[in-house]
Amino acid sequence: CSRLSGFKVPEYSACRTQPPFRPPQVPSLAIHLNRTVNDEGFAPNKENHLAPNPLAADASGAGDAGPGPSDDTSAPPQRHPVGLLARIAEKLGCQPADILDWDLYLADTQPAAVTGLNGDFVSSPRLDNLLSCYSALTALIEAPGLESDPNCRVVCLYDHEEIAARRRAAGSALTLHFLRRLSQGAEFETAVPKSLLVSADVAHAVHPNYEEKHERKHRPSLFGGVVIKENANQRYATNCLTSSLLRECLRLSDPAAQLQDFDMACGSTIGPILAAKVGLPTIDVGSPIFGMHSIRETGAAAAPGQGVQLFSAFFKHFPALREAMETHPFSFNIIKFPFLEIPRSNMAELIPVPGAKSSKVT
Ligand SMILES: [Zn+2]
Repeated sequence: CSRLSGFKVPEYSACRTQPPFRPPQVPSLAIHLNRTVNDEGFAPNKENHLAPNPLAADASGAGDAGPGPSDDTSAPPQRHPVGLLARIAEKLGCQPADILDWDLYLADTQPAAVTGLNGDFVSSPRLDNLLSCYSALTALIEAPGLESDPNCRVVCLYDHEEIAARRRAAGSALTLHFLRRLSQGAEFETAVPKSLLVSADVAHAVHPNYEEKHERKHRPSLFGGVVIKENANQRYATNCLTSSLLRECLRLSDPAAQLQDFDMACGSTIGPILAAKVGLPTIDVGSPIFGMHSIRETGAAAAPGQGVQLFSAFFKHFPALREAMETHPFSFNIIKFPFLEIPRSNMAELIPVPGAKSSKVT
């Protein structure tokens, strides 16, 4: 244990890296005692039905169910299961009384696995959103051109993703403060609109068992590459400019690389939150997966590589593309939209006047 500002707290990293004991389990109720589960679905009472077995009972059946009187009079009033507290203290090499509190979560401990007849799938806990974290971090480390990059490359990984009210989440003031400190000596307000935020989260691939859940013309395939998320009701922060910029980055790296489109409203992302909070031009993207938020999610085995390729292309090509936009405001658009080559002064002539047969009235 270590002492921090007068309080004794367990070593944070020790809790994070060492399971305190063999993994607990949450045994489900036998179907014989819950006959309707297959028709009506699994709907546990979260308070009563999800207690893991080390907390519900010990091997003797005597139980160690929760707060209760302790024989150790030096211990503070117990707010946690006595046995669990003692075991974690033992692992940390301290006394139970040294632990003031904890953030303790259960998580699947089975390792990820490549599955499928041809090894095309990856089955893993927390693909949402470790997949994007891995892709962005790997690209940050490996992408070329850092020495000559006039921009500052940043990867932000949030504890609580888009849960805006929580500390350290995208909705907190942390990002704004952090970027301001990074831009010391530069004009933060002028740097913001010249930047591009790639908000990366996973996306819903069309699940072959539930094809009807997707729109007819927006059907991301598990194997079709990273998805660009766009929504007319602004559930995502993507717009045509940010989308074009990222597409162009990838095209310059690999003309054959694929991106997919998705425009259904689904889970929220940090994109609109940060776009509003910081003012950054933003695009929402994500690798397609099945079973988002299940204890194990399914993705394409190629997805991590595709993610790294996209972020590498972004880091490598964005500065030059952004510079080209600055120097020749229309130059970037001309690449994809030749009709914008028309001089501005003549564009008004293209706009029809309602009810008028000709704009030239004599
Ligand atoms: Zn997510």
